[in-house]
Amino acid sequence: MARGIGTKCLHLEENEGRCRNYGAVSWPIFQTAAYAHPGAGKSTGYDYTREQNPTREHLEKVVAALENGIDALAFTSGMAAAALLMELFHPGDHLIADADLYGGSIRLFDHVSQKNGITFSRIDCYKDDVESYIKDNTKAVYIETPTNPMMHVTDIEHMAKTAKKHNLLLIVDNTFLSPYFQNPLDLGADVVLHSGTKYLGGHNDTLAGFLVTNREEISERLRFLFKTTGACLAPLDSWLILRGIKTLGIRMEKAQENAMAIVNWLKGQKAVTKVIYPGLAEHPGHEIMKKQARGFGAMITFQLKSKESALAVLEKVRMIQYAESLGGVETLITYPATQTHADVPEEIRERNGITESTLRLSVGIEDEKDLLDELERVFREIEGEGHG
Ligand SMILES: *Cc1c(COP(=O)(O)O)cnc(C)c1O
Repeated sequence: MARGIGTKCLHLEENEGRCRNYGAVSWPIFQTAAYAHPGAGKSTGYDYTREQNPTREHLEKVVAALENGIDALAFTSGMAAAALLMELFHPGDHLIADADLYGGSIRLFDHVSQKNGITFSRIDCYKDDVESYIKDNTKAVYIETPTNPMMHVTDIEHMAKTAKKHNLLLIVDNTFLSPYFQNPLDLGADVVLHSGTKYLGGHNDTLAGFLVTNREEISERLRFLFKTTGACLAPLDSWLILRGIKTLGIRMEKAQENAMAIVNWLKGQKAVTKVIYPGLAEHPGHEIMKKQARGFGAMITFQLKSKESALAVLEKVRMIQYAESLGGVETLITYPATQTHADVPEEIRERNGITESTLRLSVGIEDEKDLLDELERVFREIEGEGHG
């Protein structure tokens, strides 16, 4: 019987059994670079940690199980995963990428992939006619849903059908929802990317990245590129991410609950002109999210009346920290225009709707009341100063 996702965060069926690893309940950290061989031409299955390490391998199997993939590869960061993924393509290839991606992905495409001869069409995948952008040399579609930070929702199943029809790979960066809330491979995607730094690790303390696939030939190619280029996650960091994943379910549930409370509170604020959260019934992607995901996540984007009020919020937060990440237990607030999306060309940023009064919250697992108290204090202070 298929197990629930909460259980899959804790137990890997194939690695269960009595007294494996001396009965250690926590999977051990195999802090070794090399492995001795039992004899000439013989191997334990482990040769060198760039290729395999039992701690990383256990983590990879857990993440593959969470995304219902046949293989997952654990990288030193999400960007290392994205950079390796781009090695699947050749000079002359063309990709269709969503216009509103994580800023680092856009920087990778603009400054590394293009130099390597790969071209991109950047479109709004949630609304544009993707087929009209497909050329003879188009090889893949690269999306996030919901997008970062504008929270546009793309219908994954529909996009996968279009991609299949034209023999394109569908790549989905699933960082924002985590496998706890969404499984793109089940909806027809070919590769899922994660920044493991975010919800999977969950504690704002370790960088990691993942590529997950359910296609044998892609897995083989990625494994070859992985051992050749070497951005493999270290044993200790693999263990930290494994430990983070154990509580993924309860963290996601609590963060989402807090997010909903904050969204409702923000909507009642005079200083707030717009709240973007796909859990709101009025969000244009709400119904698609209900169909393809098990939750709405804990990322909120909101607009204030002016740049001054946005900056004032960043100045005044104390418990909520002004920092450039997401997906951890601590609530963070980000200013996309100068942080996560600073390297996105201004005209694209503006076209996407990221302005100097846009703020993004990654809601953590603090007590709801304390988060609301903090926001209440910040907003009353800025009102008092005439920014509200
Ligand atoms: C953070 C992030 C990345 C990059 O991951 P790193 O671990 O920071 O390298 C990629 N995609 C999304 C959606 C992210 O939030």
